[in-house]
Amino acid sequence: MNELVFATSNPNKILEVQTKIDSEKFPIKIIPVPQPFDPVEDGETFLENAYIKAFEAAKKTGRLSFADDTGLCVEALNGRPGLYSARYAPTGEEKVQKMLSEMEPFKTLDERKAYFTCAIVLVRPDGETIFSCQSKFEGFIDFSPKGSHGFGYDPIFMVKELGKNLAELSTEEKNTVSHRALALKEFTNWLSSHNIFEDAQ
Ligand code: IMP
Repeated sequence: MNELVFATSNPNKILEVQTKIDSEKFPIKIIPVPQPFDPVEDGETFLENAYIKAFEAAKKTGRLSFADDTGLCVEALNGRPGLYSARYAPTGEEKVQKMLSEMEPFKTLDERKAYFTCAIVLVRPDGETIFSCQSKFEGFIDFSPKGSHGFGYDPIFMVKELGKNLAELSTEEKNTVSHRALALKEFTNWLSSHNIFEDAQ
């Protein structure tokens, strides 16, 4: 079976992507990049960071590789924490508390618009990008945390369409609506109409 390398060290992401690819019945096996894998993510955009990780994995393995890069962008904070979402505070709980205090001056939901984004880039070992996309999953920063599922900013991210916070959704529900789900859908749609293994590696 053809193999695609996923440039991540996060076992949850690997499982999520493997499940999606399996359920769509692709003749593709997702294999994690050999560890240790910790490239310097010094891009200026989500797409650049995804490219850096994917190219690093493609060079390391000599195979077609893809990576994702995600973050939370808050309108009232001029897009912050954005690329720095992981480093905004050390733990999920601290991220939530810091975000709630930064958002304190903004009293209406309309002033608390935010979105999660997920960029996915697929790269050949020679560095050529053969697919890229970026999703936008819109919502609001809630006034207090709700729910007990998920991680990171999930307790305070209210999903626009559902009026519920991400941490109130089960993992399965979240994985059908999230920024990663949206980007993965675009990726798998593209994969289903392209034979990337014909001459790519
Ligand atoms: P990464 O690029 O997937 O490692 O994500 C960067 C950071 O964005 C994570 O450390 C989280 O803080 C935040 N983040 C990304 N996706 C989610 C999500 O689905 N829920 C909550 N926080 C997220």
